[in-house]
Amino acid sequence: MKRKLVVGNWKMNGDRARNSALLDQLLGAMPAGMDCAVCPPFPYLSQVGEILRGSDVALGAQDVSEFADGAYTGDVSITMLGDFGVRFVIVGHSERRALHGESDVLIARKADVVLEGGLVPIVCIGETLAERESGVTEQVLHRQLDALAVTLSPEALQRIVLAYEPVWAIGTGRAATVEQVQAVLRFVRRWLGRHVSAPERSQVLYGGSVKPETAGGLFGLPDADGGLIGGASLDAQSFLEICRAA
Ligand code: PGA
Repeated sequence: MKRKLVVGNWKMNGDRARNSALLDQLLGAMPAGMDCAVCPPFPYLSQVGEILRGSDVALGAQDVSEFADGAYTGDVSITMLGDFGVRFVIVGHSERRALHGESDVLIARKADVVLEGGLVPIVCIGETLAERESGVTEQVLHRQLDALAVTLSPEALQRIVLAYEPVWAIGTGRAATVEQVQAVLRFVRRWLGRHVSAPERSQVLYGGSVKPETAGGLFGLPDADGGLIGGASLDAQSFLEICRAA
């Protein structure tokens, strides 16, 4: 049995005091039998990494530069993330795509950089509301996934974590229904079936307004291997309940 993975994406939230209070409540209460990671903003990787040391909760980052170390003002390299004990790196989050103009090609390059650095990319894909309403959800996902297959070898593709995050469900309190999620996850698994040797071993998460009340139903779907959690990961009790549902 594959273990479920639950990843907290803190986005641009937190400060030293709140981070340590949140982690104090999480550590010690984490359920066994599942995998968990939290992704703080870059400046707190060191603080959070120290607190997590020796625990079952892994450290993640929210982005990475496509460049290696050098003259790239404002960027953070994969070597630096590795140096701080980071294990997972979110790439292609819809907020990066929409607010920073990150393209499918750039995101595939970043996923490659993460794998080359020996870490695990969590690659986000998902359609906007307009795209869903005009019936092009699968085309959009196809385009996002195909860009990965152009850059990554089948062996590399096998090692990435995919997160299906419909843009309209992120931070809106409006999670996709279990039927909608399962239909897309099935589609993603079929796509994987054409590109990797063991699609059933690939990890595919759902993200977008996951709450303690909805987590059980979503994680119980045949093709769901866990979740990427934004807002609810900032509240210890909610995040713990979501982890327990995994
Ligand atoms: P949300 O965010 O849980 O707050 O909707 C999910 C995400 O953006 O990863």
